[in-house]
Amino acid sequence: MTLSTLRIRICGDPCLRKKCVPVKEVGSSERMVINAMIETMHQSKGVGLAAPQVGINQRFFVLDVGDGPMVIINPEIKKKSGLCVFEEGCLSVPEVIIMVRRSEEITVYYGDENNQTMELTCNGLLARVIQHETDHLNGVMIVDYASDEEKVTFKEQLENFEAEQKE
Ligand SMILES: [Zn+2]
Repeated sequence: MTLSTLRIRICGDPCLRKKCVPVKEVGSSERMVINAMIETMHQSKGVGLAAPQVGINQRFFVLDVGDGPMVIINPEIKKKSGLCVFEEGCLSVPEVIIMVRRSEEITVYYGDENNQTMELTCNGLLARVIQHETDHLNGVMIVDYASDEEKVTFKEQLENFEAEQKE
């Protein structure tokens, strides 16, 4: 591990199940963590990475759906409309793909890395990633959406995660 990459916590790690606390203010130490998270996300070829996934129980995440990195602090999803079911993976749940039902369009209020209050209405992949990462801040992960069929399909992987938790 270099200074600029962080260890990603895997399903079973209790850190992933805690409800995160709001960020008070983004300062220089927070920006260092944010930059390291962006680098870690890019190196892992992920489209999003939430703070609890690297062991930090605070309400922020980074994402990049192909338009460059975005930093989302203290997100509040205010409006939701439509429904869309699509497959999702997660850097903390390797080798598992779950079909997840999400809102098609959302409006989210958040702070950016310069402590500016932002409002964003979006749909498609960006809306999906924001909902997925906001779930992480509440201790929720894609395995929680698994159907009975998916639980059978990914039985081996899911049991491995539980085994790790007991260690
Ligand atoms: Zn995830």
